[in-house]
Amino acid sequence: MTFAEIGLPEPVVAALARNSITVPSPIQAMAIPDAIAGKNILGRAQTGSGKTLAFGLPMLARLARHEDRPAPKRPRALVLVPTRELAFQVVDSLTPYAGSLGLNVRAAVGGTPFTKQVDQLRRGVDILVATPGRLGDHLRQNTCVLGEIEMTALDEADQMADMGFLPEVRTLLADTPNDSQRLLFSATLDNDVKTLVREFLPEHELHST
Ligand code: AMP
Repeated sequence: MTFAEIGLPEPVVAALARNSITVPSPIQAMAIPDAIAGKNILGRAQTGSGKTLAFGLPMLARLARHEDRPAPKRPRALVLVPTRELAFQVVDSLTPYAGSLGLNVRAAVGGTPFTKQVDQLRRGVDILVATPGRLGDHLRQNTCVLGEIEMTALDEADQMADMGFLPEVRTLLADTPNDSQRLLFSATLDNDVKTLVREFLPEHELHST
């Protein structure tokens, strides 16, 4: 199966090809069609499996459908990650493909100036990549709202649990619309992750690599 056959927008397929990404990895081939179809996804996948694009590309396919929005654009897709380093990696991985559709990807992470992030959020964001603590700060200060979120991806959910982020993650997910789509990726699906799944993705497709 090719990326075009999977149902990704043509500009994204072309941008992938420019980066020599032409054949979907196993987790991508399994998860992307279900995610584009609007299903919740539980993905068991390691770093290096191509999981970033497995959740990022369906976000783009979905957001491309109604791209013309009045300013200020509130985020419609959210990626929660355990560390700022991973947040910047995710932003870098998705930016060329989002850019092919005129969509932007921004990070909201700790350790960088809060006011600069507030300016970025004010200017408009399509896909927000955040660490739980900093995003919680933005919500409490009303500098970001999650009411227009259509899809949330939790990346490295097991690591987020190990780092003690699950209470904050729960609060954040509860702030996204109830009927929004959720994609959870984790190397392991242990007790904490299972609890999160029961709560926020009671119905899902499981894809395991
Ligand atoms: P990840 O597992 O998301 O950290 O991705 C690992 C690396 O694989 C990244 O450098 C991606 O650019 C690359 N990658 C992701 N999907 C593919 C693919 N289908 N074909 C070739 N490389 C890929």
